[in-house]
Amino acid sequence: MILKEEGMASPSVRLDPIRTRSDLARALDALRSTGRTLALVPTMGYLHEGHLHLLDVARTMADAVALTLFVNPLQFGPGEDLEHYPRDEERDLELATSRGAALVFAPSTEEMYPDGPSVVQVTPGALGERLCGPFRPGHFQGVLTVVAKLFGLFRPDSAVFGRKDYQQVVLVRRMVQDLELGVRIRVGPLVREHDGLALSSRNQYLSPDERRDAVGLFRALSAADEAFRSGERDAGVLLRRARAELEDFPLLHVEYLELVDPKTLEPLDRARAEAVLAVAAHCGAARLIDNTVLGAESPDPRMPPPGVGDVR
Ligand code: AMP
Repeated sequence: MILKEEGMASPSVRLDPIRTRSDLARALDALRSTGRTLALVPTMGYLHEGHLHLLDVARTMADAVALTLFVNPLQFGPGEDLEHYPRDEERDLELATSRGAALVFAPSTEEMYPDGPSVVQVTPGALGERLCGPFRPGHFQGVLTVVAKLFGLFRPDSAVFGRKDYQQVVLVRRMVQDLELGVRIRVGPLVREHDGLALSSRNQYLSPDERRDAVGLFRALSAADEAFRSGERDAGVLLRRARAELEDFPLLHVEYLELVDPKTLEPLDRARAEAVLAVAAHCGAARLIDNTVLGAESPDPRMPPPGVGDVR
């Protein structure tokens, strides 16, 4: 779906952030005492329309929506962008308020990890070794651990994650299933710029030249998707089609381009509807990821966004 820049225009009122676990517990008690259900949207902040669309989805799932703003050090590897990760809490609070969040939790690192990094962590197993896994050792363990902590703190009825981070969604779903966490997981659509670049807080690292090439990821995915729609099923042919497209974008340094099973994330030799074509690349200082579910998306990023009911 497509970014609507108008929707981002200067909001003015805002919720106050909750900083501590004890204040959060009090706020959640008050909310629950009125019998309301809760949907959680975890983010690292620097909100864009992709995040805000998750709030829209969450509002359809529960009586109240909680957003978290927390740049989780556990999910950053050495040499990654933890120190430089973009932040603008004031704006995030205004946007979250304007999109109907009832509560925003924005803890410090010390509040989330009072005794230092969690001693007991959630390991992702084989699913965490696919796609981004080898390039970001420890990343998914950090993600699952913080998501498990947030589920423990909020005890939400449901939680919403974006399809942009496809592997993350698969892992969170699997964690909820394997650990019987009892949280309903919903997936929000992948929101794109007008030219197709997937929205990401990290896009702001891109120089104008890099921004021009960054769209190559979407072009490559679209080229393979188009071939799929024309009947091509050979994974090798589809991947070559995508790689040929990427050659036109020299500032993209591809880490992986893979066609995988939507649940196991194992590479496929033959494509089928619902197979996921996923890509990651460095572009200047930004590491970008993108994916498409073959045959499922509009090849034109200018098409109107799917309604919430269509969300996969
Ligand atoms: P982040 O702040 O990058 O950790 O992302 C928080 C949530 O927003 C995750 O569930 C992401 O998958 C989701 N998200 C990030 N970018 C997009 C996007 N372009 N479209 C939809 N969801 C997104």
